[in-house]
Amino acid sequence: MSRLPIWESHWEFSEEEWDRQAAVAAQQHPLKGLKQLPQMPGITKETAKGLKWKSLLWMIRKDVKGEIRKGFFKHPFKYMWELIKSALKSKPYLREGDFFLYGVDSLTQFNALITEQNSLLVLGFSYCHKPFECPSGRFTPECIRDSQHPVCQQCFIGKALHASAHPQTIPLIIPTIHYIGGKIFEIVHDNPEKQILFIITACEMTLEMFGDWGNMVNIRGLGVRLDGRICNTMKAFELSEEGIKPGLTVVLSETQKAILQFIRARAKALRQD
Ligand code: SF4
Repeated sequence: MSRLPIWESHWEFSEEEWDRQAAVAAQQHPLKGLKQLPQMPGITKETAKGLKWKSLLWMIRKDVKGEIRKGFFKHPFKYMWELIKSALKSKPYLREGDFFLYGVDSLTQFNALITEQNSLLVLGFSYCHKPFECPSGRFTPECIRDSQHPVCQQCFIGKALHASAHPQTIPLIIPTIHYIGGKIFEIVHDNPEKQILFIITACEMTLEMFGDWGNMVNIRGLGVRLDGRICNTMKAFELSEEGIKPGLTVVLSETQKAILQFIRARAKALRQD
């Protein structure tokens, strides 16, 4: 799949090489992208009303495969208590720019946590910022991240996943809330001795709606706000959860750099050679 050098031992060279290939691919196979960033509120005023209830109802009503139910009933009393505690706070997160902080006080603290040997990092990307031309399809949890493919070469998800390849990092592409919820339950239950951390991209509305659920299972990490054609109403969110997402979202360039810095710090600390 990849003929690039190993990022953890040759970071600068790997990144330069990735960016060079991306520039060539952009010349030869330009992707459909946003001509300019739309100015959209993160959540419309109407949608912001009663968001915690909307979130609870969505989790219960749409749990057709039982992903949330099965996980929740492994430790129902503990999870109920933690969910109530988080829901009673005015916000389930702190915020620094595009980063929503869950269970951590600052980006500096997260940077220290991410270098701990006992940590497991969930690196998740919402499907809505896959390129339209993604060879794995857009509304899927798949990602071939082929470093020789001209679309993957221009994709931030591909770059981040190549840079972060490590047995203690779990990459996920997220088609729906229930999908990621089920996966997080599995990871938490299968790794009771590990500190589970996460970096997950999502729309601001989703980060607001489902933050209590992450706090419920006591995972700590960063939600990364997407820009571009985000979902900021319940209707847009509902359609997106069914794979109807005609617009493209993006991780802003400075935020991409910050994510890569976290990955780099982790790669350095967990280097295997
Ligand atoms: S890296 Fe993954 S998400 Fe990006 S274009 Fe390739 S297959 Fe799609």
